[in-house]
Amino acid sequence: MIAARKAGRIGVIMLIASMGVACGHENTEEAGKSAVSTTVVPAPADLAPATAATTPVATIDSARAMQYVRDVVKFGARPIGSENHKKLEKYILGHLRGDKVEVDAFEADTPEGKFPVKNIITKYPGTREGIIVIAGHYDTNYPLRDTGYVGANDGGSSTALLLELANHFRSKKNDGYSVWLVWTDGEEAVKQWTSTDSLYGSRHLAEKWQKDGTLKKIKAFLLVDMIGDADLNVDQDTGSTSWLQNVVFQAATRLGYQSHFYGRAIGVEDDHLPFVRMGVPSVDLIDLNYGYGNVFHHTPQDTLDKLSPKSLQIVGDVVLETVSLVNSLKN
Ligand SMILES: [Zn+2]
Repeated sequence: MIAARKAGRIGVIMLIASMGVACGHENTEEAGKSAVSTTVVPAPADLAPATAATTPVATIDSARAMQYVRDVVKFGARPIGSENHKKLEKYILGHLRGDKVEVDAFEADTPEGKFPVKNIITKYPGTREGIIVIAGHYDTNYPLRDTGYVGANDGGSSTALLLELANHFRSKKNDGYSVWLVWTDGEEAVKQWTSTDSLYGSRHLAEKWQKDGTLKKIKAFLLVDMIGDADLNVDQDTGSTSWLQNVVFQAATRLGYQSHFYGRAIGVEDDHLPFVRMGVPSVDLIDLNYGYGNVFHHTPQDTLDKLSPKSLQIVGDVVLETVSLVNSLKN
């Protein structure tokens, strides 16, 4: 999931308590230690309420999404370069038959050698010029690959939710921007999280899309990561685009799920950052408090029993509602 914290480096920004003080965590053991709860209520976004209020609410099938998590976890650890990773690629592609699928494949040069990395992209055309991207990583932590680690939440939940969102967008007429789903790869560091040892797939894709002109067509980039935790508290990432965060919060509020969002504000390094840096409106939906003090994160305890289909439902439905609200924006 999040790289930063994955590697253990979480910049916790105590917005209210101690204005602008950032704490860098250097070890996974310390992750979450200084998570300070703050409540930052976003200001209302400039929405078209009449449209939003009359649009029917869409929902995902959370039981099916949860089954995808179970399927994915059965493969075991899924780090880049592994046989299990290849099996998972096939599994994902097998669920996208008939869709317009692209694979952004390249070789990543890492501190542990060269690895094949493949971002999987599926495109559902809309009626309006512009693209909404929904992304989440499918690789799992590399250093823990031989520890029994399965990454049910970190890697599993995002992979599964995107598969369920694919079912949704495939089955309905998309009256709005085109929706592209992206299973990002190589999100995890292979050695220790740094700006060059992390986010391999998303950095590559952002550059590629900058060169080919795709980037400027993206109206919103919605990233999901570690969103299966039964005790769901989606953090407010201080590096995300604030107007888009506001839209997400409005979506959550409309569905009655706002108590699961933005209880604290932290800075998270994740797959949205390469896009944020290139000016794409982006938001990271991540719950980096996985178990008390984030104790399950990047440990063999990141297992199915910690997850709930209800959490997948909440995040999936809020994502769909956010898409609907973004489609209702004037431009
Ligand atoms: Zn991770």
